[in-house]
Order: sequence, then C-alpha cells, then structure tokens
Amino acid sequence: MPQLSKAINNLKASSTVAFNAKARELAQQGVDVVAMTAGEPDFQPPAHVLAAAHEAIDKGLTKYTATEGMLPLREAVAAKFQRENGLSYTPEQIIVSSGGKQVLYNAFMAILNPGDEVVLPAPYWVSYPAQIQLAGGITVPVQTEAASGFIPDPEAIRRAITWRTRAMVINSPCNPTGAVYPAEVIKALAELAAEHDLWLITDDLYEHLIYEGSFTTAAQFYPERTLIVHGASKAYALTGWRIGYGAGPKPLIAAMNRLQGQVTSNASAVAQYATIAALNEVDKTRAFIDMTKQAYQERRDVLVTGLNRLGLKAPLPHGAFYVMTDTTPLHQDENEAALLLLSRAHVGVVPGTDFGAPGQVRLSYATNLESIHKALERIARLLN
Ligand code: GLU
Repeated sequence: MPQLSKAINNLKASSTVAFNAKARELAQQGVDVVAMTAGEPDFQPPAHVLAAAHEAIDKGLTKYTATEGMLPLREAVAAKFQRENGLSYTPEQIIVSSGGKQVLYNAFMAILNPGDEVVLPAPYWVSYPAQIQLAGGITVPVQTEAASGFIPDPEAIRRAITWRTRAMVINSPCNPTGAVYPAEVIKALAELAAEHDLWLITDDLYEHLIYEGSFTTAAQFYPERTLIVHGASKAYALTGWRIGYGAGPKPLIAAMNRLQGQVTSNASAVAQYATIAALNEVDKTRAFIDMTKQAYQERRDVLVTGLNRLGLKAPLPHGAFYVMTDTTPLHQDENEAALLLLSRAHVGVVPGTDFGAPGQVRLSYATNLESIHKALERIARLLN
C-alpha cells in the first residue's frame, strides 16, 4: 500500500473516542460495562426538541442549508447570546458546524500559521492539541493544580506568552477538571489576550452545567478578538446530532465558513431544526436543563464522596460532568489504570495522558446513579 501522510501519521487518535469504543466493544461482547468514558448525557433530548426534528422530516425539510447554518438557527443562537449573556451578535457573526469540534477545528485552521503557539491551561480537553497540531500550530500548556481547584494563574499564563503566541484557549466549566473560573480570572486572561494581540477562543460548551459559582464568558470583555465555541450536545443531550456553533468577529466567521464550505458544507438540516426548538422554546428547555443539572449534581456528590472514601483522591468539580481522580491507589500509571478498570472492574474511564493530566483518570458522571453505585462497588472490589 502507498504511504499515508506525515500529518496523519503524527496524529494521535482521540482518547475519549478510543476509550469509549473500548467500553462499547466489551459491552457488545455481552459484558455489563459501566461506561464513564465519553461525556455523553444519558438523558433523551427534551420532547419539544424531538418533535421539531420529526416535524422537519415530515415537512421534507431535509435538503442542504446555507453552509454557515440556516438563518433562523443563527438568529436563535444570536438571541440566546443576547438573552443569557448580554452579548449582541448579528447572524453574520455566527456559524453552525457539525459539533463543537468542527467549530474549533475551523477556528484553528483559520487563525494559525505553521509554528504559531497557542497557550492553554492544563489539564485541557484532548482534541485541542491534536487540532492545533493539524493546523501547524504548537500547544503551550500551562499547568494548573488540584490544590488551587485547577484555576489558572494569569501570571503563569503571561510567562508562557512569546512573540510566537497567536491564540489562547480557555474552557470554563472545564473538561476534564470541572473547574469553574472566577470572573476576575477570566477577565485577567482576556486582558492578557488583548495586551498581546491574541485570538481568544472560549469553549463555553458546559455553560449550563454549573453547581457552584457562576458562568462568565470571556467574550464579554473583548468580543472583537474572541470566538465563543458552543453547541447543543451537552445541555440539550443532543450529542449524536452534531450541532456546534461559533460566535465571533465577522471576518473570522467568514473564514471559518469558507473552510467549512470546502470540507463538510452545512451541519445536518434536521438537527438544525431541532436545535432551533431547543434554543427558542425557552421555558421548556430551561425545565429540562434544571432537571438534568440537579441529577448531575446528585451523581457528582455520590461519585466524588465514593472515590474519596476509596482513597482515590478526587477534588469536587464545580461544573460540567467530569471528575478527575488520582490513580496512585491502583499502583499503575493512568493508562494501565484505565485498562485495568475496564478489563477487571468493567468500568470505562479515560486516562489523563492526553488531557495533560498524568497520574489521573477522568470519569464522566453523565450516567445514572445506579451505574455510579455499581462502578464504586466494583472499584472497591478491585482495590481489595
Ligand atoms: N467531549 C466529550 C468528551 O470529552 C465527547 C468525546 C469527545 O468529543 O472528545 O468526552
């Protein structure tokens, strides 16, 4: 066979996707697996969202849409940012893509030249460095510590900025740590971006899942250099529907759209109609988010208490639906620990390696309480 490209040979597989697939494979062999791998709500999407998708199918609204997403959806996204965040965007400042992942990829491709550096707090979500690498950029991680709640120190970020830095990525609530950054930290980071003329990419996917603290988007400080990355997957339980959206300055959005037009065109039409309902039927969606958030909080409390009781040190995450735990009691590095947990305890987790979190594994608690209790019992048995 002829050779593959260097770029693809150098690209690592996504460990969230890979470990989720491992858990799924084992389950397909008939093993009762508790999958706490991918961050995927176990809830079905709200009824009004499903109804909107059915209606779109029944009406035959299944053709190509505008590459950047259909206008009523971009208007609904703009209305959401106005209503919930006090931010004014026109529809031309919004792009709809196939998941938050594609919004990010479009953005890195649109802003990075070979050798450009991107600073970001670590632990970070696994796909940032991979996408930055594909765009020719270099990831410059700045470590945050469990002892300080994984909140970045703006001074440490400042020290990581060089003349080659082109962008900063922040993600609060954070996947994988669950950290919710205080407003003053986000403001300080935004000011650094402005001071050094950087693009600021704020991944706000977990905005609605905060248990302690409150949400701040970096876009409120310097919108002219900030891209918000958002989407329907987490808050509305629409993971498989693949709808992400970005909001930012018009020339950046236009550039991202040019790329998307050559790569995937529009995101799924039916899923776009469903997302319009999720965004516009505010009260029904609010009720769904409140219900799921309450469930996640209860699950978090059970899981974190349980892990700590087993000696698996896990600081309390304040947002999203992930918890990171130290694997020392398992006497393994994080990769071996994740494999052991899966093969012996039948509990799927993701190793911290590709999150920039050695010695840790990530568990998603977007799964039901019964499964969480089962996972804790199995881990306890394994430790014994
Ligand atoms: N974002 C989720 C996670 O971190 C889904 C998997 C992925 O896209 O990486 O688990």
